[in-house]
Amino acid sequence: GLTLRGIVKHFGPTRVLDGVDLDIRPGEFLTLVGPSGCGKSTLLRIIAGLEAQSAGSVTIGGRSVDALPPSERDVAMVFQSYALYPHMSVAANIASPLELRRLSLFERLPLLRWLSPRRPRVMREIMTEVRAMAGQLQLEGLLDRRPAQLSGGQRQRVALGRAMVRRPAAFLMDEPLSNLDAKLRVHMRTELAELHARLGATFVYVTHDQIEAMTMSDRVALMDKGRILQLGTPSELYDTPADVTVARFIGSPP
Ligand code: ATP
Ligand code: MG
Repeated sequence: GLTLRGIVKHFGPTRVLDGVDLDIRPGEFLTLVGPSGCGKSTLLRIIAGLEAQSAGSVTIGGRSVDALPPSERDVAMVFQSYALYPHMSVAANIASPLELRRLSLFERLPLLRWLSPRRPRVMREIMTEVRAMAGQLQLEGLLDRRPAQLSGGQRQRVALGRAMVRRPAAFLMDEPLSNLDAKLRVHMRTELAELHARLGATFVYVTHDQIEAMTMSDRVALMDKGRILQLGTPSELYDTPADVTVARFIGSPP
């Protein structure tokens, strides 16, 4: 699980996170929702280590990670913009975190890599994993394509595959479906929910789409102005909103 204690973030004079406390259970699908600018992405980036908090602490799997760089935090971030390498194949995109981890700098240098006796074996192992991942995500026939030759949903699945090969304890997803058309977004909701069930990993999911939040999550944390207003199951938030802001956002009857 993940534990956040007293997370505060200032950008200059502006306080964008105002003391966030949150306990995310292992294997949980937790969704952060709230209006634009309330601090969702900033909170996710602090968990991932891409942004430093001004105060407070982050614990992942019982281990304090405040001093650790993103690569050592056992989490993988999935962005709405996919951030795939455009010049590389689907296979190479999915393989990239494994290559970074398992090949030495020497072995990664294009001109020198064939001289390493270890490289062919490591690359074979990496490709076996990439194929297994592609199977899980129904990308088998697409491994040789470039990102530009894929649909939005396929690109999204490549981005997921690249996160999955690291086998992180938690996936941090910042509006991963917001670039997709409405029909594909609905389809990917189901796929993500199935993937979550299959992986058993913790998902921290950011969206400002109420329907996504209410249909996919075990629990929802509703944020406003840098604070969590209410944390609960979708039906708890819907049936017993803590205040009128929550009710309005969730769409509970007055
Ligand atoms: P959205 O739903 O629009 O993505 P969000 O909830 O993800 O919004 P954040 O991106 O976390 O919001 O931003 C929270 C606040 O912090 C905003 O007011 C934003 O303008 C501000 N902010 C974010 N990043 C920076 C930065 N690098 N420098 C200054 N202010 C920032
Ligand atoms: Mg955001």
